[in-house]
Parts: sequence; C-alpha cells; structure tokens
Amino acid sequence: MTTDALKMKWDMDVFFPGGSKSKHFEDYRKSISEDLQQVKLTIADLPLELNDDAVKAWRDLMVLIEDLDMRLHHAGSFAFCLAAQDVNDEHATVIIQELSSMEAEIETIKTGVEELAIALDDDQWKNLLADERLKDSLFYWNERRRKARLRMEPKMEKLATKLAVDGYHAWNRLYSKIAGDLRADFEEDGETKTLSMGQLANKMSSPDRDIRRRAFESLEASWKTRDSLAAMELNSIAGFRLSLYEARGWESPVLEPFMLSRVRPETIEAMWKAIAGGLDRITDYIKAKKKLLGIDRFRWYDQNAPVGKVTKTYSYEEASDFVVKHLSGFSKELGDFAAMAIRDRWVEAEDRSGKAAGGFCAGFPAAKQSRIFMTYSGNYNEMMTLAHELGHAYHSWVLRDIGYYGRHYTMALAETASTFNEMLVTDAALGDAVHESEKLSLLDSKVNEHFTMFCNIRARYLFDLMFHDERKRGPVPKDRLNELMVQAQKEAFGDILADDGYHPMFWASKLHFSETEVPFYNFPYTFGHLFASGIYARAKEEGPAFADKYRSLLVDTGRMTCEDVARNNLGVDLTADGFWNEAVGRALEDAGLFLKLAKAGR
Ligand SMILES: [Zn+2]
Repeated sequence: MTTDALKMKWDMDVFFPGGSKSKHFEDYRKSISEDLQQVKLTIADLPLELNDDAVKAWRDLMVLIEDLDMRLHHAGSFAFCLAAQDVNDEHATVIIQELSSMEAEIETIKTGVEELAIALDDDQWKNLLADERLKDSLFYWNERRRKARLRMEPKMEKLATKLAVDGYHAWNRLYSKIAGDLRADFEEDGETKTLSMGQLANKMSSPDRDIRRRAFESLEASWKTRDSLAAMELNSIAGFRLSLYEARGWESPVLEPFMLSRVRPETIEAMWKAIAGGLDRITDYIKAKKKLLGIDRFRWYDQNAPVGKVTKTYSYEEASDFVVKHLSGFSKELGDFAAMAIRDRWVEAEDRSGKAAGGFCAGFPAAKQSRIFMTYSGNYNEMMTLAHELGHAYHSWVLRDIGYYGRHYTMALAETASTFNEMLVTDAALGDAVHESEKLSLLDSKVNEHFTMFCNIRARYLFDLMFHDERKRGPVPKDRLNELMVQAQKEAFGDILADDGYHPMFWASKLHFSETEVPFYNFPYTFGHLFASGIYARAKEEGPAFADKYRSLLVDTGRMTCEDVARNNLGVDLTADGFWNEAVGRALEDAGLFLKLAKAGR
C-alpha cells in the first residue's frame, strides 16, 4: 500500500493488534468479565449499614465500577470500529453483543450502589464520597442518587426495567422492523427501483422538485398502509411511559427527558420563546428561497431543497489542511490537536466498498485517544464531516485527564464542540468562495440548519407535548394523531407551509417519536445547536482570547448541569431570555445575509 493510501486509514493496531481475532483483545475482554463477576459477588455481601470497614469497601467498589465501565467503553469502541470498517466482520458483531450484555450487568451493579445511596442520609452519603479517587465522579454519583430518590423502591424499579425489555422497548423494535421492511417503487431516469423509506427520505433533498414531491407522496402513502400498526405502537410506548411516571408520582412527561439532558424546564421554555419570536424573519428567508427556487407554495418536501451549488472539490490532504488552518486561527491547541489526529491516523477516511455508511467519533478512554470514521471522496460536505468529528475528538481530548465519570456529558451538550468546528470551517469556506452560486449554497445550508432547528424540531416537540397530554386520557386514534401533527406543524412553521403542504404522518415516518431510550428526542438538537451558536458568537467577538474559556467550558460539560456550565464559563443565565434572544438574533443575521445575497443575484 502506498503511504498516501495508508494516510487515509486509521491505526487500530495501537489498541489491540490483529483486529477482531486479536489475542490481546480477547484477554482484555476476559479480564473485564472476571472483574465483573468479582464485583457482583462483592456487592452482594456489602452491608447497607455503614461502619468504617464498610465505608472503605464501598469506596473501593465504586472506584472499581468506574474503571470497569471505562474499560467496557474502550473495548466497545474497538469492536464497533471494526464492524464499521468492514461490515462483513461477523466476529466483531458477536463481540459487540457480548459486550452489551456486560454493559447491562454493570448497570444492574450500579443500581446496587443506588440502593445504598438512598438508604444513607445526606451526611453519611457525603462522607462516603469523601475520597480523593471519587472527586471527579461526585456529580455523577450525586445525580444517580437524586434520580433514584425520585423513582419507586428498588425492587419495583428492577421489575419495571425487566418488563420494559419485552414491553416498552419491544414496541420500539417492532417499529424499527415495520419501518425497515417498508418498500416503495420509485421511478427515476426511466428506471423503476424499489427503495427503502430512508432512501425515499434522501430523495427529498433533490434539486428536482418533481423528484422531491414524488418521494414525499410515496413516503406518506407507504406509511398510510401501516398507520394502524404505527398508531398502536406509538400509543403503547407512551402508555407504558405514562403508567411508569404515574407510579413514580411524576406528573409531567418532560421531567424525564429534561433530567436526561440536565436542563431545567425554564431553560427550554426560554429557548422556544426566543425562537417563536424569530419566526417572522425565518419566514422572510423562506420567501426569498421560494423566489430562487421558483416555487409558489412551499410544502414539506421543499424544506431541504438546495439553492446554488458548490462545485469545488478538495483532496483529503487539502481538506485536512483547510480544517487545521482554520481551527488554528481560533485556538492553537485545537489546530495542533487536529493536525496530530490526522497525522497519527486517528481518522478512517478511505473511500472503498465494505465500509458502513455515515460518520462518527469513538472514544478510547483507556488510551486517551479517539477514532473518527467516515468516507472521504472529495466533496465539501465530507470536509465538514471531518471538521465536525474532529470537534468530538477534541472534546474528549480536553477531558482526557478527568476521572471517567466526570467526562459523561449529555446529548444536549454533546454537539457543542462539533457544531463549533463546523461553524469555524463554514465561515472560512464562505470567505473563500468566489462564485455567487457557491456563496449562496454555503450560506443557505447554514440558514437552513437554523430553519430546521427552529421549525421542524419545534414541531416535533409540540407534537410530543400534545400527544402525551391526550394519551393520559386513553389511546389516541390514528386520525387524531394526524390532526395533532398538522396542528403542531402549523404552530411551529407559522405561515411557511402552504395549506396542502403539511406532513400529517410525520409521527409515523420519523423514528424519533418511537425512540424509547430517549423520550422527547427533539429539543436537545435545538438546544445544542443554539448553545453552540451562542458560544461561537462569543468566540467571534472575543477572538483567540476566548479559546481558554471555550476549553474550560468543554471540560465542565461532564460534571455540571447545562445551566451551571453556561453560568460558570460564560456568565449567562440560561433560564432567562437574554442568551437565547442573542443566539436567535445571530442566527437571523445569517438569514439577513442570505436575503441580501439572494436580492443581489437577481
Ligand atoms: Zn456529532
């Protein structure tokens, strides 16, 4: 292999030489498994009444659990990366299953610690955690205790978790099966192909409106044939969830999702309020876009219609240099890090068959490294993926010396560093763009992202709220689900969508509504996007002087609530309107630039 080709392949042997059949890797997994069995035996014998000996034993155990969890993550990443680089690596798939059952075991062990946590009074608990080895994991364990106290007694919770496997989560698996099996015939260039729902959804980004329309109509019609099943599944998921909440004494359906994201309700309210206030100007952006596209009535399938075109291509080396250069322009550490990651082959970018689709960044905490997976063929979007994933890797990099449980950030903050990198690189590319069409395209993808976060994601949130509210009084029939969905879209999109431009079956076609691990899998997207935009605006104002603040903000993401991260590092109150109005205002400045450029073009 030439060195050039090697440059685009990641180095996995540094972790365990030999891929999925690696002897080192097998030994590593064996030691995790043995320690896991040991911990299980130990915890069964530990008393809930504490004397000095018991305190010491529990602390040792908590340290061991944290270490085990980290090693499991490390091993899991290795197997996951192997499966992605070669979809036919069946051995890797088997290992992934083996590791996920170990993950389930460690979760059970952690509920054992929770049992102790709620049995102790505040002083005893504080005393237990007063150990140098646990200092970075204080937030983590305190949070687990706080949550455990809000739940039913441990015996009941264990039963609920067990029942959820073939109840709650089974409905989600059924949904995936229905969605995965659905197919539709689609004609393009005189050829009829059978497409999956995912492929149809991709067609809705086509520059050809007829293709977008037909893809949408086919998607809506395909789901119509399954609407009774989908309604049953969605009602069962929400029904299970609401019954569990009732047993715990939780009145609001957003209590759990907000807890999972570590945000307060006031924060999310303030965010949506600011967004609703910006709807008029987003509507102006769509009006301008309609003119460019030659569209009179804007419909659901026009949301991702592209304008302008980026024809410029970048070799992997050019893309790497471009990204490194512009990250360095903000922070030397960030740029140096990106250069190191590329040089030391942390990135798998080769364009070849047999690789999984998409891109991701996986952490290898035991080695304090990350690996980025993607396929690079030379276009602009792939350069952005590289920048995006390098953001995730940098986030892990600044956290590398913190105790493992102090690095656990939630979904709401997970995209901060990746979005930030994207913004740096997009603005650089915009500055470099020569052709009007290129500028328009780059600017449009930026503003369109705001549009999606403000309208599409908000519609999902509003639907989930209304649906859960009605579901409390009994199952919601499919026609009513359609009505609620249109109502949510009307509120979130204002006057943007034409009367015949809604997507009533969105509750069925979008998998997020049926997600059971993360209920209300919507607002964290908008939160993350606007939070990163707000930070980026600060970085532009303060320049490289902001780099240290940015770094310390990332370091705090694993051990604080979102509000505390913002207060400590930016001095802002997320529960108040100010930060959000500013962030929305900055996003709308991009929309303003788009309007100017669109006008000048005509
Ligand atoms: Zn990401």
